[in-house]
Amino acid sequence: MGRLQGKNAVITGAAGGIGLETTILFAREGASVLMGDISEPALAKAIAKVKEVVPNAGRIETIRCDVSKEADVQAMIESQDSWGGMDIIFNNAGIMHADDADAVDTPEKIWDLTQNINVKGVWFGCKHAVLALRRNSKKNGSVINTASFVALMGAATPQLAYTASKGAVLALTRELAVVHAREGFRFNSLCPGPLNTPLLQDWLGDDHAKRFRREVHFPSGRFGEAVEQAQAVLFLASDESSFVNGTDFVVDGGLSKAYVTPEGPAPAAPK
Ligand code: NAD
Repeated sequence: MGRLQGKNAVITGAAGGIGLETTILFAREGASVLMGDISEPALAKAIAKVKEVVPNAGRIETIRCDVSKEADVQAMIESQDSWGGMDIIFNNAGIMHADDADAVDTPEKIWDLTQNINVKGVWFGCKHAVLALRRNSKKNGSVINTASFVALMGAATPQLAYTASKGAVLALTRELAVVHAREGFRFNSLCPGPLNTPLLQDWLGDDHAKRFRREVHFPSGRFGEAVEQAQAVLFLASDESSFVNGTDFVVDGGLSKAYVTPEGPAPAAPK
């Protein structure tokens, strides 16, 4: 307990999945958290949950923010100046669109929407984080950007816009890690594996064959849980990771390292 005592954190996509679990963990560890999300109703439910499960939480507030709009991101981060200035940002909001496909069938508007939220949103978060850390004379700061295991592998799904967007997150994070290291600011990417969160579960729906084809390839034989990502984010956010910078921090149960999956049921032979 207390691993983030005295720290101010901004978390985007905080109303659900990884963002909400991370808010809960940060609150337990003593951070003040500003929860940003595009959905106000979801934010209202999420903050109620945080206050229920962490009754002794410090300052926890919500703000509506569309990460693809620079003015929203700027206002969100600047609003923490009155708290003492942002120390940590988790640029986590992202989408995976059902119409995302391959090089031929991906609609241009889905490509643009995906890059605007998943890449430009992360850039805006990084840009205004650097400005805030400087403005508030912070000697160290931690930025964690959510990428994905698909950026390390190539998904046969296919989902070109999503995979490309997450590859861009890895690249921009590495570059910023190098550029800002001497200011004491660290930038790391989180690469989650497939999870039990609405983002993936809504996409899989009730299609048992689609679901089975994925699970059978997981070395661990299961989807991950959002809280398992939050534990990694907590480490990257805290001073315990003070020499960890520019990494693709992979939390995928070994999926991206698997060639042949150990023991497990085989899928039905194709007809
Ligand atoms: P989720 O759908 O449960 O939560 C995402 C949150 O982002 C939602 O609350 C949503 O309202 C918010 N959001 C969407 N668009 C936004 C915008 N423009 N501005 C601000 N907020 C917005 O998803 P999750 O599984 O927790 O995913 C979080 C991150 O993890 C995403 O970047 C996703 O790509 C990544 N990821 C997820 C998985 C997985 O299997 N779920 C795997 C790898 C990476």
